[in-house]
Amino acid sequence: MLTRTKLQRFSISIVALALLAASSTTPPQADPTRYLADVKTLASPEMEGRGDGSKGLTRAEHMIEKRYKELHLDPAGVDGYSQPFSVITGARLKDDNRCSALESGSRKDLKVEQDFVPFSFSSSGQVDAPLVFAGYGATADEFHYDDYAGFDVKDKIVLVLRYEPAGFAAKSGNHGLTHHSQLITKAINARNHGAKALIVVNGKLGDGEEDLLTRFGSVSGPENVGIGMVQVKNLMADAWFQSAGKTLKDVQEQINSSGSPASFSFPANLHLALKIEIETTRATVNNVLAWLPGQSDEYVIIGAHYDHLGRGNFDSLAPSQIGQIHPGADDNASGTAGVLELARLLARQRGQLKRSILFMNFAGEELGLLGSAEWVKEPTKPLAKAVAMINMDMIGRIRDDKVYIGGVGTGSNFKTVLEQAQKDNPFTVEYSAGGYSSSDHTSFVSKQIPVLFFFSGLHSDYHKPSDTWDKINASSATRLLDVVENVALQLADAQGRPTFQVVAEEKPPGGGGGGGYGPYFGSIPDFGQEVNGVKFSDVRPNSPAAKAGLKAGDILVQFGDKPIKNLYDFTDALRRSKVGDVVEVKVMRDGQPISANVKLEHRK
Ligand SMILES: [Zn+2]
Repeated sequence: MLTRTKLQRFSISIVALALLAASSTTPPQADPTRYLADVKTLASPEMEGRGDGSKGLTRAEHMIEKRYKELHLDPAGVDGYSQPFSVITGARLKDDNRCSALESGSRKDLKVEQDFVPFSFSSSGQVDAPLVFAGYGATADEFHYDDYAGFDVKDKIVLVLRYEPAGFAAKSGNHGLTHHSQLITKAINARNHGAKALIVVNGKLGDGEEDLLTRFGSVSGPENVGIGMVQVKNLMADAWFQSAGKTLKDVQEQINSSGSPASFSFPANLHLALKIEIETTRATVNNVLAWLPGQSDEYVIIGAHYDHLGRGNFDSLAPSQIGQIHPGADDNASGTAGVLELARLLARQRGQLKRSILFMNFAGEELGLLGSAEWVKEPTKPLAKAVAMINMDMIGRIRDDKVYIGGVGTGSNFKTVLEQAQKDNPFTVEYSAGGYSSSDHTSFVSKQIPVLFFFSGLHSDYHKPSDTWDKINASSATRLLDVVENVALQLADAQGRPTFQVVAEEKPPGGGGGGGYGPYFGSIPDFGQEVNGVKFSDVRPNSPAAKAGLKAGDILVQFGDKPIKNLYDFTDALRRSKVGDVVEVKVMRDGQPISANVKLEHRK
């Protein structure tokens, strides 16, 4: 055993050696050629856009795992390098979907995907009920318009028009349609009025526009919106309007010209019989996790999601190109290749750094941060030993050296560390203090782990087939990787670790702010949880939710008079509220219902 003085002298000489090493050699730099080759492979046709549940994602997973093995990094998953978890990848129409119109003994059967089609978020089940017409299916207090006013639709099948009454957009002061035009909003509204099922028709078409049915699965929504919902063609609905002595066209024109509802019941001898059978499709996907051992069990996380949209069946921003591969070169082959390049550079320091490094590649990000949510729920290394999480999501499109770095306020020393890292390698940085946004670091900040998020900004190819490898700025991305490497090394080698700091958040998660989301509530939804209600992964300090005593882990099940089954219900209920409203909400906490009064505030 060494004496204390010897130990001290020994330590000093190690520090001196380390300093000498640091000053004589700069750390190895990221290589643009290698980096771009990895982006190209990940965004290649063989990877099929890396959709969750696809063979292409599995190929990407194998590529990442193979690389970690070659670098002799230790497996850090549940099963080798992998951490498997189950996700909902979509929905499938089963064989027996039916829609029939029954009128005084005669029966007309509509053909599925020809005359009618269920929506993928519809409930499954059978309904046989009288039919009523409820205009656009809108209840818009702010425009003094309600298709359901004084009209009882309980246990009826409600037929509504797509879109919204003429003039809503102008009255709202915004361009484009309001949320009342959204199918989910119509579904929730019909369900909350007690309807048994909802039928949507296109109604008036533009010049030369065809009366098309929506492609099954192309509109995203909750797994189950809580009401049966199908679209039928105008031609089918026309026949029903005839039985009521009306035409679809006239009634729609009447609503639009008068600005008032024209709801009515179809003759009592007209019934509709619906049978909807939808199967939720699931898949097992894997996070890929590798460990670079340091001298202690504390560790720095470097992560990126490697999944993308596959062929764009949901969340594509190029709806006419659904079915084509969405290669996701920037989103997020760019970050994935970044993690691999940093793994290559840092692997040489095995056993030498003060702390260890955990490399993470997440699946399920595009479905709602599911991979990172899975990891923080079932961590493969102790959460308390994670000193910081560095996330890269879309770092491939740097223009004019401009980058965005988020989470800077979540770690006590992050600003200094970032400035040091850019001393000889500066970028024009837009910093934001908060750690919540629409990528995987959000899962970590909700566990009080300091996070840093590197991002090169949105662009017009985002979530489209045109997000291709040839548009990646590899030289700037690798220069940014040098900064990230420097940050990781500082965090891994510093004497102390950053303290987690709570940041009063300015923006809601997802980036969307604005009046369209209603007043401010202040909860962060837990996307990784399948529960009946909305589970809070966190509650923002000083927010209306916090002031009312709501906490992380609470499950919101009731908002005023509205049941909350999922995030869509919650968003809808919030949009229907006003700043200053005091809303009685019900949450489940440890299995017990708790009521609280939340006073809604302005979004800042
Ligand atoms: Zn994305």
